[in-house]
Order: sequence, then C-alpha cells, then structure tokens
Amino acid sequence: MFFRGIPIPEAPAPMNRAFHTRPQLECSVCGSRDHAPFITTGTMMHEGESADFRFNRCAVCDAVFLTNPVVEDDLGAFYTEAYLPYRGETAWGRYAGWVRRDDERLNAKRVAWVRRFLPRDAAEAAVLDIGCGKPDFLAKLKSSERVHAVGIDRTAAQWGDSKYSSLELIEGDWRELRTERQFDALTAWHYLEHDYHLSATERACHQLLKPGGVLIAEVPLYQGLLQRLQGPHWQGWHTPRHLTLFSVRSWKHAFPEDRWNHLEHRTSGTLSAFTLWWLGHHEKRNGSWSGSMEPHFWGLVFWKVALAPLFLLERFIPLGIQTVVLKKKAHE
Ligand SMILES: [Zn+2]
Repeated sequence: MFFRGIPIPEAPAPMNRAFHTRPQLECSVCGSRDHAPFITTGTMMHEGESADFRFNRCAVCDAVFLTNPVVEDDLGAFYTEAYLPYRGETAWGRYAGWVRRDDERLNAKRVAWVRRFLPRDAAEAAVLDIGCGKPDFLAKLKSSERVHAVGIDRTAAQWGDSKYSSLELIEGDWRELRTERQFDALTAWHYLEHDYHLSATERACHQLLKPGGVLIAEVPLYQGLLQRLQGPHWQGWHTPRHLTLFSVRSWKHAFPEDRWNHLEHRTSGTLSAFTLWWLGHHEKRNGSWSGSMEPHFWGLVFWKVALAPLFLLERFIPLGIQTVVLKKKAHE
C-alpha cells in the first residue's frame, strides 16, 4: 500500500539489528492519512547503530510525526550510557555544580508554573508528575506548597536520595495507574513527544484529573526559529525517542474542546530553547555523548553568552519550546 506522502512500509529489520521499526501510517495526533514528508534525521544522542528516521507533516493538524518509529520494546537501545539526561550533572565533571544550579533554576520555574493553577482553598492539593525521572521538581514543589506530590516513571533508578522520602513515587506505566485519587494538576515536562498512544493518554489524563483540574505540558516546538536554522540537527527531533512534534494548532485535535478548556499556550517553556540548540550543535560536530562533557563546558558558556540576546527574546519569538495548560471541563 502507498498512502499519500509516506514511503512504502519497510521490510522487517534484520535480526542482528539492535532495534526494529514499524510503519506509522496515520498522524499520531489526529489519525489523518493526509500527510507529506517533512524531514529525515539520523539517530541522535546515540553512539550505536544509526538509521534514517522519517518525519511527515499532517495536512489536517500540522503535527509532525515519525513514520518509522522504533517498536516500544526495543527503545532500550536508545537509553544507554550515551544518553546525557541519565548521566546528569556528573557527566560535567568539575562543572557539575554549575549544571546542578541550572537544574535548580529550571525546577523553580516549574514550581512557579504549577503554583498559578493550584486551588487556593484546598487544604492539600494533589499533583501528579508523569514521567518524573529524577523527582527534583516534585521535591521542590513539596518544599514550598501544601501538596500531595506523586511521581510516576518506568524506572526507580534515580529515587534513592532521602530528600525524596516525602513524595509518593510509583514505578510503572502511568496509564495503568489504578487509584481512587483525582488530581488538581498533572504535569508532563517533555513527556508527550515520547508518547506512543496519545489518544489513550488524553483519556487517562481526563480520568485522573478532578473536574477543573489542569494538565500542564511542555514539549519542543518544531515551528520555531531554531528548527529552521538547524534542520535535521535540531535536538527537538531527538530521534528516534520523539514520536510527535506538536504544532500550535494540533493541541485542539489531541485534547478536544468538548472535554478541555485550552487555558494557555506559550511559545516558550521552563527549558531554554538554547539547550536544544546547543545539543544539536554538539550533534552536528559529531561530539561524543558517552565521554566526559567537561571539555565542552567553556564552549557551551561561550555560545550561551554570544547568543544571549536571541534567547532573551524567547517569550516573544518562537524559538523551539512550547507550553500548554489544559483544563478538564466540569461537565461534558
Ligand atoms: Zn494530524
């Protein structure tokens, strides 16, 4: 079969490959089969076997999605020692303290976002962070707000620190979470672009929220300036881990207006678009991902200072990050 805009599904990958792909024939947001090739990128932040990954753009909702995603069970091939977020601040050697302070500022911004939407009259608001990873955001939220803070992720590998003891941390697939509790806020910081089942996610978010509760989601924005400048090297693609790059208008397809109030959409976020730019810059220069990042620190500082005027305008010029706040309607 050949649907408009997408290649003929490829033959099964040879058994000696570390991963397999499958054809994605429909837009991952709205299900349309009306889409056309947008960009092809190689594997990113990865030092194993490479491959070409093809993104198409949907003619209905403008979302860009991966047409040959890696099958979910093989994703582990892309979360190795070369995966920088797993290595955290220690990857930066003697500059780890600088990275840690940067993380603290990031989490403070996240807390400020959530605080705006917590109910003022509740004795204790309930917040669930989907794909919480190392739960520093939740720990910071808990330290300043009266909240019951819940984090869920597939791995508990980064939860050993005693500062997380006041949090409820759950290991597993968040969509299989069975709880009587409903939440005042769900947060998804750079999660939805990884999601394999967006319509199930929309239903699960709706079910987990109290009426009037909010979902705050931050993801990359391919319609920003940096994707245009960097093309296939822009780290927002993060291939093949990112399956969906939401467009500005795709949100109303993913979260229909009969069930959600679209309270806010910003073309910026808590993560600076500079981060995605610099990672893409490193990728383009074939920089190592598994070795120490220490030798790259001063280069990063140079670019951060040189490009500061551009990134200070991030609130006004779409660069490469977006944030949405979606409120569950009280009655459908
Ligand atoms: Zn679509």
